[in-house]
Amino acid sequence: MIPVLRTKLDRQTPFSFSCKQCLQCCNAKKIQVNPYEIARLARNLGISTTAFIARYTVENGSFLQTTHNKTCLFLGDGGCLVHADRPLVCRLYPLARHVNHKGDEWFSELQPETGCRGILKRSGSIENYLEEQGATPYMLAANSYLNLLWEMMTILENTDNDDKESPDEEMNTLLENGQLMDMDAALNIYCQERELPVPHSVEEKMQMHLDALYLWTKEKP
Ligand code: SF4
Ligand code: SF4
Repeated sequence: MIPVLRTKLDRQTPFSFSCKQCLQCCNAKKIQVNPYEIARLARNLGISTTAFIARYTVENGSFLQTTHNKTCLFLGDGGCLVHADRPLVCRLYPLARHVNHKGDEWFSELQPETGCRGILKRSGSIENYLEEQGATPYMLAANSYLNLLWEMMTILENTDNDDKESPDEEMNTLLENGQLMDMDAALNIYCQERELPVPHSVEEKMQMHLDALYLWTKEKP
């Protein structure tokens, strides 16, 4: 666990951070990713989300894989090889974002890495920092997938079927089948069934992926 310096911060809290690219913080971290982040990274590399999950993630696509010495696979000599499409946690570090099931949002300021050369100040605002880091589409995507998970839990808990699996098992089934994390695989099935073209942009794909997941959850026997 990374020590927390301050928590329960909101977007107006004074905060600024200037990273000096010393590359130390891309080691020994578990970088969690959602389907949108996987799709951005896959597009960056020119491969499908299916191939990305197989080559670059662990735990059914939930975390980025690391090298044997726990360095992120995307850390090159000159820095992050996928910088333009890096995940949200990488964009926000040393800030962490939290959202609860009611949609309440707050932030924590984490203790920077030992030897981190970044300059942390109590000036500016978290809002400005989020903008500088291009975090908005990532936060919207995170909210959408979190809402989906909360709704899936509610739908599955309310399913009136003695034979139904528990919500956790249902969720694990979607995860293991790849439909939850593998956007391209899910859309291939969804579009083929409906004779629809697969959208091109990651944002359009994400919207259709969310629609498909909501539908599949509701269609559960
Ligand atoms: S350790 Fe600090 S200065 Fe170095 S790359 Fe990470 S955030 Fe930037
Ligand atoms: S994706 Fe890039 S910024 Fe994030 S941990 Fe890996 S190398 Fe570092």
